Amino acid sequence: MGDRAVGQVITDVELGSIAVLKTYSPQPSSLVGRPIDGVSRHGKFIDVDVDGTHLIFHLARAGWLRWSEKIPKTRVRPGKSPIALRVRLSDESGFDLTEAGTRKGLAAYVVENANEVPGVARLGPDPLDDDFTEDAFASILSEHNKQIKGLLRDQSVIAGVGNAYSDEILHVAKTSPFAMAPKLSAEQVHTVYLALRETLLGAVAVAHGKPAAELKDAKRSGMRVHGRTGEDCPVCGDVVREVSFADTSLQYCATCQTGGKPLADRRMSKLLK
Ligand SMILES: [Zn+2]
Repeated sequence: MGDRAVGQVITDVELGSIAVLKTYSPQPSSLVGRPIDGVSRHGKFIDVDVDGTHLIFHLARAGWLRWSEKIPKTRVRPGKSPIALRVRLSDESGFDLTEAGTRKGLAAYVVENANEVPGVARLGPDPLDDDFTEDAFASILSEHNKQIKGLLRDQSVIAGVGNAYSDEILHVAKTSPFAMAPKLSAEQVHTVYLALRETLLGAVAVAHGKPAAELKDAKRSGMRVHGRTGEDCPVCGDVVREVSFADTSLQYCATCQTGGKPLADRRMSKLLK
Protein backbone atom coordinates (compact mmCIF):
# COMPACT_ATOMS: atom_id res chain seq x y z
CA MET A 1 0.00 0.00 0.00
CA GLY A 2 2.88 2.35 0.83
CA ASP A 3 4.15 2.52 -2.76
CA ARG A 4 0.76 3.49 -4.09
CA ALA A 5 -0.39 5.83 -1.36
CA VAL A 6 2.66 8.05 -0.94
CA GLY A 7 2.33 11.31 -2.82
CA GLN A 8 -1.45 11.06 -3.06
CA VAL A 9 -3.64 13.66 -1.42
CA ILE A 10 -6.43 12.52 0.90
CA THR A 11 -9.76 13.68 -0.48
CA ASP A 12 -12.02 12.21 2.18
CA VAL A 13 -12.03 10.18 5.39
CA GLU A 14 -15.29 8.40 6.15
CA LEU A 15 -16.08 6.71 9.43
CA GLY A 16 -18.30 3.65 9.42
CA SER A 17 -17.67 2.94 13.08
CA ILE A 18 -17.29 5.73 15.60
CA ALA A 19 -15.94 3.21 18.13
CA VAL A 20 -12.91 2.44 15.97
CA LEU A 21 -11.61 6.00 16.24
CA LYS A 22 -9.83 6.31 19.58
CA THR A 23 -8.89 9.98 19.41
CA TYR A 24 -11.01 13.18 19.38
CA SER A 25 -8.58 15.74 18.15
CA PRO A 26 -7.36 16.36 15.50
CA GLN A 27 -10.49 15.39 13.61
CA PRO A 28 -10.12 12.89 10.74
CA SER A 29 -11.48 15.61 8.46
CA SER A 30 -8.33 17.62 9.19
CA LEU A 31 -6.45 15.12 6.99
CA VAL A 32 -8.47 16.07 3.92
CA GLY A 33 -6.55 18.04 1.31
CA ARG A 34 -3.16 16.98 2.67
CA PRO A 35 -0.60 14.63 1.07
CA ILE A 36 0.57 11.25 2.34
CA ASP A 37 4.30 11.59 2.97
CA GLY A 38 4.99 8.04 4.06
CA VAL A 39 3.61 4.75 5.34
CA SER A 40 5.53 2.87 8.00
CA ARG A 41 5.06 0.20 10.58
CA HIS A 42 5.58 0.28 14.35
CA GLY A 43 5.24 -3.35 15.36
CA LYS A 44 1.62 -4.17 14.74
CA PHE A 45 0.64 -0.56 14.05
CA ILE A 46 0.52 0.95 10.57
CA ASP A 47 1.38 4.63 10.50
CA VAL A 48 0.25 6.82 7.62
CA ASP A 49 2.11 10.12 7.77
CA VAL A 50 -0.21 12.74 6.37
CA ASP A 51 1.79 15.92 6.01
CA GLY A 52 3.10 15.60 9.58
CA THR A 53 -0.16 14.40 11.15
CA HIS A 54 -0.50 10.66 11.61
CA LEU A 55 -3.34 8.31 10.86
CA ILE A 56 -2.38 5.17 12.77
CA PHE A 57 -4.22 1.91 12.96
CA HIS A 58 -3.97 -1.44 14.62
CA LEU A 59 -5.81 -4.17 12.76
CA ALA A 60 -5.91 -6.64 15.66
CA ARG A 61 -6.93 -10.22 14.87
CA ALA A 62 -10.10 -9.72 12.90
CA GLY A 63 -9.38 -6.48 11.09
CA TRP A 64 -7.98 -6.02 7.65
CA LEU A 65 -6.99 -3.33 5.23
CA ARG A 66 -8.21 -3.43 1.65
CA TRP A 67 -6.60 -1.29 -0.99
CA SER A 68 -8.74 -0.35 -4.01
CA GLU A 69 -7.46 1.13 -7.24
CA LYS A 70 -10.95 2.53 -7.67
CA ILE A 71 -12.73 3.04 -4.40
CA PRO A 72 -16.56 2.79 -4.59
CA LYS A 73 -18.36 6.11 -4.83
CA THR A 74 -20.86 5.24 -2.08
CA ARG A 75 -20.16 7.04 1.14
CA VAL A 76 -19.57 5.00 4.26
CA ARG A 77 -21.97 6.02 7.04
CA PRO A 78 -21.67 5.26 10.74
CA GLY A 79 -23.36 2.02 11.73
CA LYS A 80 -24.50 1.22 8.19
CA SER A 81 -21.50 -0.66 6.86
CA PRO A 82 -19.01 -3.37 7.83
CA ILE A 83 -16.35 -0.87 6.74
CA ALA A 84 -15.00 0.93 9.80
CA LEU A 85 -12.98 3.57 8.01
CA ARG A 86 -12.58 4.58 4.38
CA VAL A 87 -9.86 6.86 3.05
CA ARG A 88 -10.21 8.31 -0.45
CA LEU A 89 -7.21 9.52 -2.40
CA SER A 90 -6.78 12.03 -5.19
CA ASP A 91 -6.48 9.47 -8.02
CA GLU A 92 -9.77 7.81 -6.95
CA SER A 93 -7.92 4.96 -5.24
CA GLY A 94 -8.12 4.48 -1.51
CA PHE A 95 -8.40 1.96 1.26
CA ASP A 96 -10.92 0.53 3.69
CA LEU A 97 -10.42 -0.82 7.19
CA THR A 98 -12.89 -3.56 7.94
CA GLU A 99 -13.47 -5.77 10.93
CA ALA A 100 -15.05 -9.21 10.78
CA GLY A 101 -17.49 -10.52 13.34
CA THR A 102 -18.02 -9.11 16.78
CA ARG A 103 -14.40 -8.87 17.88
CA LYS A 104 -13.79 -5.20 18.37
CA GLY A 105 -10.03 -4.92 18.35
CA LEU A 106 -9.59 -2.65 15.35
CA ALA A 107 -8.40 0.78 16.45
CA ALA A 108 -7.58 3.97 14.56
CA TYR A 109 -5.95 7.15 15.82
CA VAL A 110 -5.34 10.59 14.38
CA VAL A 111 -2.43 12.20 16.22
CA GLU A 112 0.23 14.83 15.71
CA ASN A 113 2.91 12.52 17.10
CA ALA A 114 2.97 8.73 16.74
CA ASN A 115 4.12 8.41 20.35
CA GLU A 116 0.71 9.62 21.52
CA VAL A 117 -0.78 6.27 20.55
CA PRO A 118 -0.78 3.88 23.50
CA GLY A 119 1.26 0.85 22.55
CA VAL A 120 3.34 2.64 19.94
CA ALA A 121 5.41 4.60 22.44
CA ARG A 122 6.46 1.57 24.38
CA LEU A 123 7.35 -0.54 21.35
CA GLY A 124 10.81 -1.99 21.17
CA PRO A 125 12.98 -1.81 18.06
CA ASP A 126 11.84 -3.31 14.76
CA PRO A 127 13.97 -6.45 14.23
CA LEU A 128 14.10 -5.83 10.48
CA ASP A 129 15.65 -2.39 10.86
CA ASP A 130 19.26 -2.09 9.73
CA ASP A 131 20.42 -1.01 13.17
CA PHE A 132 18.97 -4.15 14.78
CA THR A 133 22.38 -5.83 14.74
CA GLU A 134 23.43 -9.02 16.46
CA ASP A 135 25.17 -6.89 19.10
CA ALA A 136 21.97 -4.92 19.71
CA PHE A 137 20.05 -8.19 20.05
CA ALA A 138 22.67 -9.64 22.42
CA SER A 139 22.43 -6.63 24.71
CA ILE A 140 18.62 -6.83 24.75
CA LEU A 141 18.88 -10.48 25.81
CA SER A 142 21.40 -9.74 28.52
CA GLU A 143 19.22 -6.98 29.99
CA HIS A 144 16.04 -9.04 30.41
CA ASN A 145 15.95 -11.89 32.86
CA LYS A 146 13.09 -13.62 31.10
CA GLN A 147 12.45 -16.78 29.16
CA ILE A 148 13.37 -16.31 25.51
CA LYS A 149 9.85 -17.14 24.27
CA GLY A 150 8.21 -14.48 26.44
CA LEU A 151 10.91 -11.98 25.60
CA LEU A 152 10.60 -12.41 21.83
CA ARG A 153 6.88 -11.75 21.91
CA ASP A 154 7.07 -8.82 24.32
CA GLN A 155 6.27 -5.86 22.06
CA SER A 156 7.98 -3.40 24.37
CA VAL A 157 11.28 -5.30 23.94
CA ILE A 158 11.15 -6.27 20.25
CA ALA A 159 8.31 -5.05 18.07
CA GLY A 160 6.26 -7.18 15.76
CA VAL A 161 6.97 -10.78 16.79
CA GLY A 162 3.81 -12.50 17.96
CA ASN A 163 3.09 -15.89 19.49
CA ALA A 164 3.25 -17.70 16.15
CA TYR A 165 6.56 -16.36 14.88
CA SER A 166 8.28 -16.71 18.24
CA ASP A 167 7.46 -20.46 18.12
CA GLU A 168 8.85 -20.63 14.60
CA ILE A 169 12.00 -18.68 15.39
CA LEU A 170 12.87 -20.88 18.37
CA HIS A 171 12.24 -24.02 16.36
CA VAL A 172 14.54 -22.81 13.58
CA ALA A 173 17.14 -21.90 16.21
CA LYS A 174 16.74 -25.26 18.00
CA THR A 175 16.32 -23.38 21.26
CA SER A 176 14.02 -24.15 24.17
CA PRO A 177 11.24 -21.59 24.63
CA PHE A 178 11.97 -21.69 28.35
CA ALA A 179 15.68 -20.89 28.02
CA MET A 180 16.55 -17.81 30.07
CA ALA A 181 17.60 -15.00 27.72
CA PRO A 182 20.71 -13.80 29.61
CA LYS A 183 22.03 -17.37 29.89
CA LEU A 184 22.18 -18.04 26.14
CA SER A 185 25.74 -18.62 24.91
CA ALA A 186 27.19 -16.33 22.25
CA GLU A 187 26.64 -19.12 19.74
CA GLN A 188 22.98 -19.50 20.74
CA VAL A 189 22.48 -15.74 20.53
CA HIS A 190 23.94 -15.86 17.02
CA THR A 191 21.63 -18.74 16.03
CA VAL A 192 18.49 -17.13 17.46
CA TYR A 193 19.38 -13.81 15.85
CA LEU A 194 19.74 -15.41 12.41
CA ALA A 195 16.53 -17.40 12.92
CA LEU A 196 14.69 -14.22 13.90
CA ARG A 197 15.78 -12.31 10.82
CA GLU A 198 15.29 -15.26 8.47
CA THR A 199 11.81 -16.06 9.80
CA LEU A 200 10.57 -12.47 9.70
CA LEU A 201 12.03 -11.82 6.25
CA GLY A 202 10.34 -15.01 5.07
CA ALA A 203 7.06 -13.81 6.56
CA VAL A 204 7.36 -10.47 4.77
CA ALA A 205 8.11 -12.23 1.47
CA VAL A 206 5.08 -14.51 1.88
CA ALA A 207 2.83 -11.56 2.69
CA HIS A 208 4.02 -9.37 -0.16
CA GLY A 209 1.33 -8.69 -2.71
CA LYS A 210 -1.13 -11.22 -1.32
CA PRO A 211 -4.75 -10.21 -0.75
CA ALA A 212 -5.75 -10.29 2.91
CA ALA A 213 -8.05 -13.26 2.36
CA GLU A 214 -5.15 -15.49 1.28
CA LEU A 215 -2.76 -14.18 3.85
CA LYS A 216 -3.97 -16.20 6.79
CA ASP A 217 -3.77 -19.47 4.84
CA ALA A 218 -0.36 -18.59 3.47
CA LYS A 219 0.87 -17.75 6.95
CA ARG A 220 -0.50 -20.94 8.44
CA SER A 221 0.78 -23.24 5.72
CA GLY A 222 4.27 -21.79 6.17
CA MET A 223 4.39 -22.70 9.87
CA ARG A 224 6.74 -25.48 10.98
CA VAL A 225 5.51 -26.06 14.54
CA HIS A 226 3.15 -23.25 15.48
CA GLY A 227 -0.45 -24.50 15.57
CA ARG A 228 0.71 -28.00 14.63
CA THR A 229 0.38 -29.88 17.92
CA GLY A 230 0.40 -33.62 17.27
CA GLU A 231 1.80 -33.33 13.76
CA ASP A 232 5.31 -34.39 12.73
CA CYS A 233 8.23 -32.02 13.15
CA PRO A 234 9.32 -31.22 9.56
CA VAL A 235 12.97 -31.44 10.62
CA CYS A 236 13.26 -34.62 12.70
CA GLY A 237 9.83 -36.29 12.56
CA ASP A 238 9.24 -36.18 16.32
CA VAL A 239 5.74 -35.15 17.35
CA VAL A 240 5.10 -31.41 17.80
CA ARG A 241 4.25 -30.78 21.45
CA GLU A 242 2.35 -28.02 23.18
CA VAL A 243 2.52 -26.14 26.45
CA SER A 244 -0.78 -24.48 27.41
CA PHE A 245 -1.25 -21.36 29.47
CA ALA A 246 -4.44 -19.68 30.61
CA ASP A 247 -5.07 -17.82 27.37
CA THR A 248 -2.43 -19.04 24.97
CA SER A 249 -0.24 -21.98 24.07
CA LEU A 250 3.13 -22.59 22.51
CA GLN A 251 4.31 -25.38 20.24
CA TYR A 252 7.77 -26.87 19.99
CA CYS A 253 9.71 -30.01 19.12
CA ALA A 254 11.40 -31.73 22.04
CA THR A 255 14.00 -33.49 19.89
CA CYS A 256 15.01 -30.29 18.08
CA GLN A 257 14.72 -27.84 20.96
CA THR A 258 14.89 -29.34 24.42
CA GLY A 259 17.30 -32.27 24.15
CA GLY A 260 14.41 -34.69 23.73
CA LYS A 261 12.89 -33.82 27.09
CA PRO A 262 9.25 -32.65 26.95
CA LEU A 263 8.59 -29.38 28.78
CA ALA A 264 6.23 -29.40 31.73
CA ASP A 265 2.75 -28.34 30.73
CA ARG A 266 1.44 -26.49 33.75
CA ARG A 267 -2.17 -26.96 32.82
CA MET A 268 -1.68 -30.71 32.50
CA SER A 269 0.23 -30.96 35.75
CA LYS A 270 -2.48 -28.93 37.49
CA LEU A 271 -5.11 -31.34 36.26
CA LEU A 272 -3.08 -34.29 37.49
CA LYS A 273 -2.55 -32.91 40.98
ZN1 LIG B 1 12.14 -31.75 15.51
